[in-house]
Amino acid sequence: MSVYLDYNASAPIDSRVLDVMIDVYRNNIGNADSRTHNFGENARTVVEDARKQVASLLKVLPDEVFFTSGATESNNIAIQGLKEYANKNRKKHIVTTAIEHKAILETVKHLKTEDFEVEMVCPDLSGRVSCEEILSKVREDTLLVSVMHVNNETGIIQPVKELGEALQDKNILFHIDATQSCGKLVKEVQELNYNMLSFSAHKLMGPQGVGVLVLKKKSYRLPPVKAIFYGGQQEHGIRPGTIPVALTAGCGKACEIAETDYIKNNDHSLEIKSKIIGELDASGLQYRFNGDQNYCVSTTLNICIEGVSSEALMISTKQYCGLSNGSACTSKSYDPSYVLVAMGIPTEKIENSIRISWGPDTDVEETVNNFRELLKIAKQIKN
Ligand code: PMP
Repeated sequence: MSVYLDYNASAPIDSRVLDVMIDVYRNNIGNADSRTHNFGENARTVVEDARKQVASLLKVLPDEVFFTSGATESNNIAIQGLKEYANKNRKKHIVTTAIEHKAILETVKHLKTEDFEVEMVCPDLSGRVSCEEILSKVREDTLLVSVMHVNNETGIIQPVKELGEALQDKNILFHIDATQSCGKLVKEVQELNYNMLSFSAHKLMGPQGVGVLVLKKKSYRLPPVKAIFYGGQQEHGIRPGTIPVALTAGCGKACEIAETDYIKNNDHSLEIKSKIIGELDASGLQYRFNGDQNYCVSTTLNICIEGVSSEALMISTKQYCGLSNGSACTSKSYDPSYVLVAMGIPTEKIENSIRISWGPDTDVEETVNNFRELLKIAKQIKN
């Protein structure tokens, strides 16, 4: 059977999460904002318990947690929701990086049509952007700095800790897209300084279709973010629409599990990583890592195998492994990965690059065996 190795695109739901959700779907009917009956009150209790579970994982206050449909929406609210404040205060300069998820890149691109100025910082071959370079772009009229914690294609950790410390006393908002680090780099995320943080539950084995935007209070006040669409006062007006009670319960449970299991999960992922690298070393194939492994998470490998087209490899090894050569949201295009391009990797090397990502329930033996078969085929199709 094929082994799923594309957890950075979406991780499978944990069965404990699914059990909680099924129970809510069966036994907790109602709208969490209905005030006229117990059904509504009970649904509200489920949502607020989930909010506490998220808050505990992130070490923030429950009323700093806002449920959304996922990181794409959280990122959009975090950026577009600042428009009114930006216009009022004539702060329309944004600094971000060329390796952000499209939910950031396309949102800031859209803001350019509304007279915002956007500056992009590229990483070097290490896959990391420079904290100093980002800080050197910051000006009097800078509204926002938005940098991801861990890149979804390379797994490379970005200097958001240093950035948060440097920006905390400045009158600039700092947003972190922590979609690939939440529930994994648990202590690190807890220690970050930021005003806004986004993630999606499905990357930490929760359900698809729910995520969080954290808005951290400063002197008891939330960041000046407004809703970007209209229709209700749910989530304090920041995210209108009926709260999906079972999805929030699943998100909360996934956070609770991550908080208790993350050290064990990390050890498990490290074992898989070292075994995959061992197979690569033993294969005789020439390969190189995309990104400095000193800064890479335990759950991701992005590698270039010399002379082996990633498209050909993925198609001819589908029976062994499900992997990818870029983020799922851009996989419909055959353009080379914009993340690897921004790192300065030549196109022919990008064409030979694959991303492998795994998680807590990935079976070590099955993964190693199937990856070994994949490498045998890689040797056969090598130019
Ligand atoms: N940011 C990052 C870093 C991601 O990896 C993803 C998902 N690939 C997103 C944002 C968007 O998440 P979703 O599609 O769940 O909204």
